[in-house]
Amino acid sequence: MMRIGIGGFAHETNTFSNIYVTPQLLATRWHEGQRMVKENLGVHNYIGGFLDEAAAQPDVEYVPTVMATAAPSGMVQKETLEAIRDRIVEMLLAAHKNAPLDAIALHLHGAAVADGYPDVEGEIIRRVRDAFGPDMPIGVVLDLHGNITDAMMEYADLLIGVKTYPHVDEYDAARIMFAQLCDMVRKGYKPFKRLVRLPWVMTCSEGLTMNGPAHDVQQFCIACEKENDDLMQATFFQGFPYSDIKETGVSVLTMAKTQETADAFANKIARYAWDKRHEFTVPVYGAEEAMDIALAIEKSDKPVVINESSDNCGGGAPGDGTFLLREMLKRNVEGSYFGFIYDPEAALEAAKAGVGNTVSLKLGGKMDNLHGEPIELTDAYVKCVSDGVYINHSPKGFGDRYNMGPSACLVVGNVHIVVSSARRQPKDDGVFRMVGLSYEEMDVVALKSSQHFKAWWQDKSRGMIPCDSPGINSSDLHSFNFKNLNLSYYPLQDATWEEE
Ligand SMILES: [Zn+2]
Repeated sequence: MMRIGIGGFAHETNTFSNIYVTPQLLATRWHEGQRMVKENLGVHNYIGGFLDEAAAQPDVEYVPTVMATAAPSGMVQKETLEAIRDRIVEMLLAAHKNAPLDAIALHLHGAAVADGYPDVEGEIIRRVRDAFGPDMPIGVVLDLHGNITDAMMEYADLLIGVKTYPHVDEYDAARIMFAQLCDMVRKGYKPFKRLVRLPWVMTCSEGLTMNGPAHDVQQFCIACEKENDDLMQATFFQGFPYSDIKETGVSVLTMAKTQETADAFANKIARYAWDKRHEFTVPVYGAEEAMDIALAIEKSDKPVVINESSDNCGGGAPGDGTFLLREMLKRNVEGSYFGFIYDPEAALEAAKAGVGNTVSLKLGGKMDNLHGEPIELTDAYVKCVSDGVYINHSPKGFGDRYNMGPSACLVVGNVHIVVSSARRQPKDDGVFRMVGLSYEEMDVVALKSSQHFKAWWQDKSRGMIPCDSPGINSSDLHSFNFKNLNLSYYPLQDATWEEE
């Protein structure tokens, strides 16, 4: 029997956020041993993919260690990162002592930053490598928003990323990585790899792979994999611009049976993508304009969706921004639904007031001074209070249990506002379901997401209008004070790139 240790740590760090990742923030999603299996078995996510692929291979047994995840936010506290890193290594070593491991499969994000550790993934892989020596096969599956570093390249044997955004192939990418890792163990080889970094920073609003230029690049990667049997994997990493480290940016990573193949295809894909860079532009609308455009779309039995990407929790923003909500309240259009705004204080006040009563409070705009002022609500009707738990129905992470903490639905005029006590990017209509609201009632929906919501909402909406209010997930890169990112990169400058 081949024994493969599995585990990881996933965090997407927006270094412009003031929310630090602490053990408390991680507590609900730090799972060890059998708990990690229970939380992920049957779920369409990375660890779910590892578990199913292990079960599909007759000669493989997996050994669960630790998987910790926190909602995207600001930097990981130094001690917190060290605790996770050391726990991963410690549990892998304990498993290895029990009966030798043949390989290690990790899920890491690729854009985590900690105090004192700008390259968290490189640090974790390096520590695992140090503990197990040069021969132990180490495979890693990464998010498409990874900023790929030299240390990740040096200490991992196999690195592949998801190809879609919304990331509907996390499960599949994990299975592919795990299967290739098993193949490496059976046949006793290590792949050749090549990283080509492009002088390019891409915003989350530009990265949709359901259509447009990012879709073309994704399809080109797949075509290259089909074209050449020696090319094991090719990933186009969009990078994460709000994680301000020196390696931040777009890159192409290939895994192949020969170095020549890895080199040739990394350059070929990088060239293909680079030549398309001017096509990666998205409209940027403020709250007022986005609302105008949305309301001008002819009515149907499906709602129109406005996504405030600049305050996307999934990109580390606070989720308590008030620009779009204020506009929605001003318009007061019948059938308006806002899901959600993060405000634990307000959720608690609503619960104290009780269902059927009214409450007056200040909503949102409390986390920092970048995402709008709190909104004064007078006599908001408490329609529902909830424990905030629901199961995600989106193809992105299908089956995952979401816990938004104590939550409430407040009604102000024609607007239903969902208030939560936890921050997690909505992927489907779950934040509405959890407070008893049904999709059929909705005519205008507002939510905070860049792309992930589209996997579910695409077919269920009559239009999707992006809204770029001021915020730390904004598409306007010029509004950021970058300290480490290379400021000569496209589109900040008109950069040039040649094949290496
Ligand atoms: Zn991502």
